[in-house]
Amino acid sequence: MRDNLSFRDSVDRMVDRALALLEVEDGMAQAIKACNTVLTVTFPVRIRGRIEVFTGWRATHSIHRLPSKGGIRYATTVNQDEVEALAALMTYKCAIVNVPFGGSKGGLYIDPAKYSREEMEIITRRFARELIRKGFLSPATNVPAPDMGTGQREMAWILDTYKHLYPEDINYAACVTGKPVNHGGIQGRVEATGRGVQYALREFFRHPEEVAKTGLEGGLEGKRVVVQGLGNVGYHAARLLAAEDGVRIVAVIERDGAVIDPAGLDIPALRQHLSERGGVKGFPGARYEPDGAAVLEMDCDILIPAALEGVIHAGNAARIRAPLIAEAANGPVTAEADVILRERGITMLPDAFVNAGGVIVSYFEWIRNLSHIRFGRMERRFDELRGRHIVDAIERMTEAPFPDHLRSELVYGATELDLVNSGLDDSMRQGFQEILEVSREFDTDYRTAAFVVAIRKVMRSYLDMGVY
Ligand code: GLU
Repeated sequence: MRDNLSFRDSVDRMVDRALALLEVEDGMAQAIKACNTVLTVTFPVRIRGRIEVFTGWRATHSIHRLPSKGGIRYATTVNQDEVEALAALMTYKCAIVNVPFGGSKGGLYIDPAKYSREEMEIITRRFARELIRKGFLSPATNVPAPDMGTGQREMAWILDTYKHLYPEDINYAACVTGKPVNHGGIQGRVEATGRGVQYALREFFRHPEEVAKTGLEGGLEGKRVVVQGLGNVGYHAARLLAAEDGVRIVAVIERDGAVIDPAGLDIPALRQHLSERGGVKGFPGARYEPDGAAVLEMDCDILIPAALEGVIHAGNAARIRAPLIAEAANGPVTAEADVILRERGITMLPDAFVNAGGVIVSYFEWIRNLSHIRFGRMERRFDELRGRHIVDAIERMTEAPFPDHLRSELVYGATELDLVNSGLDDSMRQGFQEILEVSREFDTDYRTAAFVVAIRKVMRSYLDMGVY
């Protein structure tokens, strides 16, 4: 981050704007912003005959709803300030999209590329044991999920570690989300955050009067999009937007630079190239630009930062040309950049809303684990049968055959993935509508409005419980 503020302070400063609009008294404002508890663990692991010491954190920002929820990040950029900022964002995120969880986040200072799979397993299991033993991981109180540098694999190891420590806990599978599907995971969780970005943009484009403020016109079809980061979030967002909404991904920025193709990049092929070569350089048919940061400033319709925090800062905000930014990463726009971009009339769909798809589907996974049954298992065939009866009845009454394509739509019982995506879509739509309403109520930007939405809910629950 090139600004003077830390990530934590940057988030707080943006939240302060919402607190001021709501005229929240100082004590309550502090109670809302403060991180409840932060655990630091330092633990040794024997690797290739040598003892290595690792440091990890788990910050619980709020416990007004339990469990507290948020991912675990593995990276060498991890530090306590970052974990606290990300935990705070989790609180607001859950409140905005009506997921009944508190906010938490964890991180381990590690470069995963330096260790073998076996070593990562030992380190992860050890980290999980530390969190469990210190009361920072359980289905009822604190439930991690994947984040940067972690995925289904790490979640499976964490689950197994918890299960071995507490085999009598009938809900052990709910101690972590983002698990592999055959270990209690849910369909659609891997792509959920990217899907959520897509649903957020679709909902925004359903409001022509809002779209008009950006100077853009029409729907998503044909829009020129620049994506920063082709990790789990950026990849699925780009892939789905290109395949299902007809956007053109004109540039992708990665660690080693950017690739540009005004006709639209083939995202699955680019991802394949990235995983084989470790970078985007040399991707056939596209122009390579070694200065990735400069491509953030490229002329386009929508900019989707989907990598690290602080990438749009006081130093480059004045040069960003996209009229619309959809924040798929956590904290990609600093508080100082936020001021500059707002003054320039650039519309930002804020992170705490745009990337909430992950935790929304985590919530579904957690419920699935507590109910010990896959969504749709009871009603799927029944719904199918009812559809068939309706088709039969209509055919008998009209004495005409039912059109085949309509028949297959009606005689269809929803799969778990259908239900997950339906719940995700509904949550994102409702989230945006609440933000929009508040942005009109206070005549303010979406980020401030989103924080107002969150603070009202968090404050309500503090007041109801008398916790402050
Ligand atoms: N790490 C993701 C996020 O930042 C997902 C958190 C979760 O599913 O608990 O929102």
